[in-house]
Amino acid sequence: MISPLTQPIEQIASADILRCGPQASVREAAARMMESGCGSIIVMEGDKAIGIWTESDALKVDFTDAHSCKQPVAEVMSSPVVVFPHHMSVHDVLGQFRQHNIRHALIEKFGHICGIVSLSDVVLCQGTEAFLGLKRLDAINAPPVTILDGSDRLPAALACMRNEQLTAVAVQCADGSYGILTQRDVVRLVAEGNWQASLGEVCTAPLLGVPHTTSLLQARRVILQHQIRHLGVFDQDNKLIHIIGFRDIIQSIEHEFLLELHGALRERDEALLQSRQSLLLADKVFEATMEGILITDGGGTIQSVNPAFSRITGYSREEALGKKPSLLKSGKQPPEFYEYLWRCLRVEGSWQGEVVNRRKNGLLYTEHLSITAIRDERGECLHYVAVFSDITQRKQAEERLHFLANHDALTGLPNRTLFLEKLQSAVEQAAQYNRRFALLFIDLDRFKLVNDTMGHHAGDELLVRIASELQRIAPALSTVARLSGDEFTVLLENIDTVQQVASRAQNLLDAISTESTVAGQGVFISASIGISMFPEDGADADALLVNADTAMYRAKERGKNNFQFYTADMNARAIERLKMEYSLHRALAQNELEVWYQPKVDLDTRQIVGAEALVRWRHPEMGLISPAQFIPLAEESSLITAIGEWVLDTTCSDMHRWLVAGVLPGRIAVNVSGRQLKYSSIVDTVSEALHRHGLDSSLLELEITESVAMDEDSGVVEVLRRLQALGIYLSIDDFGTGYSSLSYLKRLPVRGLKIDQSFIMDLHQDRDDAAITEAIISIARSLGLDLVAEGVELEEQRQFLVAQGCRAGQGYLFSRPVPAAEFEDLLQHRFA
Ligand code: C2E
Ligand code: MG
Ligand code: MG
Repeated sequence: MISPLTQPIEQIASADILRCGPQASVREAAARMMESGCGSIIVMEGDKAIGIWTESDALKVDFTDAHSCKQPVAEVMSSPVVVFPHHMSVHDVLGQFRQHNIRHALIEKFGHICGIVSLSDVVLCQGTEAFLGLKRLDAINAPPVTILDGSDRLPAALACMRNEQLTAVAVQCADGSYGILTQRDVVRLVAEGNWQASLGEVCTAPLLGVPHTTSLLQARRVILQHQIRHLGVFDQDNKLIHIIGFRDIIQSIEHEFLLELHGALRERDEALLQSRQSLLLADKVFEATMEGILITDGGGTIQSVNPAFSRITGYSREEALGKKPSLLKSGKQPPEFYEYLWRCLRVEGSWQGEVVNRRKNGLLYTEHLSITAIRDERGECLHYVAVFSDITQRKQAEERLHFLANHDALTGLPNRTLFLEKLQSAVEQAAQYNRRFALLFIDLDRFKLVNDTMGHHAGDELLVRIASELQRIAPALSTVARLSGDEFTVLLENIDTVQQVASRAQNLLDAISTESTVAGQGVFISASIGISMFPEDGADADALLVNADTAMYRAKERGKNNFQFYTADMNARAIERLKMEYSLHRALAQNELEVWYQPKVDLDTRQIVGAEALVRWRHPEMGLISPAQFIPLAEESSLITAIGEWVLDTTCSDMHRWLVAGVLPGRIAVNVSGRQLKYSSIVDTVSEALHRHGLDSSLLELEITESVAMDEDSGVVEVLRRLQALGIYLSIDDFGTGYSSLSYLKRLPVRGLKIDQSFIMDLHQDRDDAAITEAIISIARSLGLDLVAEGVELEEQRQFLVAQGCRAGQGYLFSRPVPAAEFEDLLQHRFA
């Protein structure tokens, strides 16, 4: 119903306008109306419509006065005529009709009258059928019919019509039938000037009638069908009760119609207001919301952003419009993230989640983002609307909370909760990959005393210092935590030997137990450490923690400032070795090491042809210690490099002295460990040592054990090549104990083999050993390698070797290893 009301009035106006001048007589006007079948005539003065004369105005003509028909129409017309512009809406015209209580208006277009519109036109143009169909004639509240007699004179009838404001009266004819006299008949009579006839003569007969139960719709149909304007209405007793005209029908529904119209208009206005308000509201929300809003077209180009967008991202509206949202990309999300996002938008039409983006100033921020695709009826995407809020601070607060929940407030170290988590995952990892790890439980000694005597502040200060010390000393990737009070833990992962753990524990003890200044006073603090090892000391976190704690108490019992392994055996070994390692350090520093020499002799002539340098340790309490005891220990740490360098340097220095004295018997051999070859710059060390002591490289021999020389992957062969290139004589020590492949041996840059003493030892009584020795001798010969037999103790052994063609030997039969001075005596003797 709304759309017909908004159409311009022009659409329903009638273009047929009957016009006359103001001087035209009433009779002329009536005649023109009869002629053209119009219900009204417009009175014009020049171009101007000054009034309107209608059928109802015809009743005002005084039929008793013969001159009244000759009077100018201007004197009896209704004036002024209302004129509306052609584009005025039907709705507004209706409003004007009601306001001015008029039923006709002229329509003007571009300064000219172009049509006329009546209330009937307006009502009929709307969907009135619905109203007409619902209502019956007996419900329209029409006035009772006025029935005049057929013998009545016309002027009396007109006076009655005029006074009663009737559009028609019924006329009772002589034969009892009914005729009708209408306003249109009156116009006709005015035109004809037929005044004196009786009603029976001028009325239209018969009167067409319908029962009072007839619907208005049906009544209208009858009227339109017979091209008449009135109907008689008969009751159930076939008595004429009303005469209704087209106008009555229209008027009867006009009320409802207008009511309905009003309702509709009100609804429309309210809807309009509401949508205007909600638009206004949406606008306000868009402008004022704290959340950033970004709207793109279907192709992802930004079309609109709100002030919050600019506030959060730092990009103004102008900077953002026309760009793509990738403007904000931080690179923190991988491409798969965006692929998933777009898939969600395509499939579900929406996505939400957290995104890290970059502000214009380059700083990152985290936003909670939800994107919705807006589609048309065909499913094509018109827009994407992204709404986001900056949750950076919330995230930071969350992270801070998480940190606080998992860390100790005083020291910033992981707390018990986080530590147990890490311990648990360490257990899982180590179990899966078959690895060892150590849990160190550290308790400060006499910490309570510091707290009680110096106050809590001092205690806190000390704890903070110790926490940072522990973190500094603990190896990378280990976890240092504070469980409570003065209890700390350290998790050492990827541990190979108990020895390594012991030396870490000692480092930690050393770091803690120094004198430090707390609250302006010197304090000496120490700690006791208990250690449990996975998997030996417990299969789960709880067991490991309890056992480390137990071990810590043992450390307290044993006088504090020490560490204890949970397993007693581990403890003994670790402590033994640690002591050794420590004293070995000291040995180097305090010159407790010595180089002894064992001659190599010609097995036939027993002449000294060279010597092997062998290290000795003169321990202040334990006496002379064999290298078999401390070299393997030194090889576990980098100590071996320092020892090796020291032995080399000392040997070179001795050699130089003997060379100068003219007693050097030949090459002197120095033992080199695998670790030296793999991890130190042995080539430089050797060449520097030779250079330092002014020795020719051909005077030096290096002994490398068979197992090290055979390690193809370690890069040792390359080092050996470089040493050989220096001119150094290389030999393989303890030959026969490894698994040398002959083809590999052939490619090694070595000149000699030393048959391991284990074969020589039983040579004279064990046929297998004799066979092996024979085989080695023939291999050496076929490969063109020199040979030295080690551990020759008996004359029989010497004879066997000589018989087999082994030229050189070394052993107690000839000489034990002896101190340098003693070896020098031997040499002096030889050359004496
Ligand atoms: P090695 O290189 O095989 O040295 C020979 C070992 O056999 C020496 O033991 C020597 O005293 C011993 N020996 C010599 N003749 C006889 C004998 O007739 N009977 C018996 N039963 N033993 C004999 P030492 O001096 O205790 O050295 C043990 C090992 O320590 C050496 O074995 C060598 O592998 C290592 N070593 C010694 N000094 C050094 C050094 O300066 N650097 C490195 N890296 N290792 C060294
Ligand atoms: Mg040796
Ligand atoms: Mg040997």
